[in-house]
Amino acid sequence: MTEEVAEETKKVPEDDNESAIVRYKDVKKAFGDTVVLNELNLDVKQGEKVALIGPSGSGKTTIIRMLMTLEEPTEGTIEVDGEMLWHKEVNGKLVPADEKHLRKVRGNIGMVFQQYNLFPHMSIMRNCTEAPVHVLGISKDEAKKRAKEMLKKVGLGDKVDQYPSQLSGGQQQRVAIARSLVMQPKVMLFDEVTAALDPELVGEVLEVLKDIAAEGDTTMMIITHEMDFARDVADRVLFLDNGKIAEAGPPGDVLENPKSERLQSFLGRFN
Ligand code: ADP
Repeated sequence: MTEEVAEETKKVPEDDNESAIVRYKDVKKAFGDTVVLNELNLDVKQGEKVALIGPSGSGKTTIIRMLMTLEEPTEGTIEVDGEMLWHKEVNGKLVPADEKHLRKVRGNIGMVFQQYNLFPHMSIMRNCTEAPVHVLGISKDEAKKRAKEMLKKVGLGDKVDQYPSQLSGGQQQRVAIARSLVMQPKVMLFDEVTAALDPELVGEVLEVLKDIAAEGDTTMMIITHEMDFARDVADRVLFLDNGKIAEAGPPGDVLENPKSERLQSFLGRFN
C-alpha cells in the first residue's frame, strides 16, 4: 500500500466521525438498581433519519429523553454537535455542566411528544411564537414570519387565528410539530407522536413527518410503532431490546430480513 493510499484509508473513519451530530458513547442508564440501557454506542449523522423500534420498556424513550437533557446518563457521554451534554471541558478536564451550558445544548434539540400540550388559551400563532420570542429572543415579527412558514408546511396556514380546541387531535399535533420547527433545532426527536390519535388522524401526521424528512437537512430520531412509516422515512432502523440495540441497519434489512427471533416475533405483531 502506498503512503498516499494509507493516508486516504485512515481518513475515512475520521470523516465519518465528523459528520456525527449526535453521539452516545458507552452510555448506561439505571434507575436505582434497574439498568434500563447498557453499552449504548450510537452515532447519528447530520441529516440522518433514524427510527427506533422495539417492545414497550426496551429503553427507546430513555434514549431520546437523555438527549433532551430530561434524564442524565448513569455512565458514558452524549454529544450533540460536538458539545457534551452533561459535562464541559475546562482546562482539559471534564466538569459537570451548569444550567447555562445545558440550556445552550438543549437549544439544538426539538422534541415532539405523544401529548401535544398546546397552550389552550393562546391562538395557534401564539403557541408557535412564545418560545422563539422568550427563549431565543428573536423579534415578534421574525417569530411570526417563521411560524407562518412552518404552519403552512404542516398544512395549517389557514388556522393561525384559531385556538387549539377548534382543531382536531391530528391538527393539534401538526401545530406541535410546527412549534418545534420554528425553533430551528438541529435535531428533532419524535416520541410516538401518533400514539394518542384516533386511527383516522394518524396518516395526516405521518405525511407531515415524511415531508419534513424529504427536505433532507433536519436530523430526526423517531420512536414509532408504525412499521410502514419507518420503512418509508428512515435511513436506519434500530431495534431496541432489553436496553440494547439488538439489530440495526437500513429498513430493508431490519424490517424485511430480521435476524433474531426476538425481532421476527416483534415484527410479527404488526402483520
Ligand atoms: P420504551 O420507550 O422503549 O417503552 P422507556 O425508555 O420508557 O422504554 O423505559 C425503559 C425502562 O425504564 C422501563 O422498564 C421503564 O419502566 C423504566 N423507566 C423509565 N423511566 C423511569 C423512571 N423515571 N424511574 C424508574 N424507571 C423508569
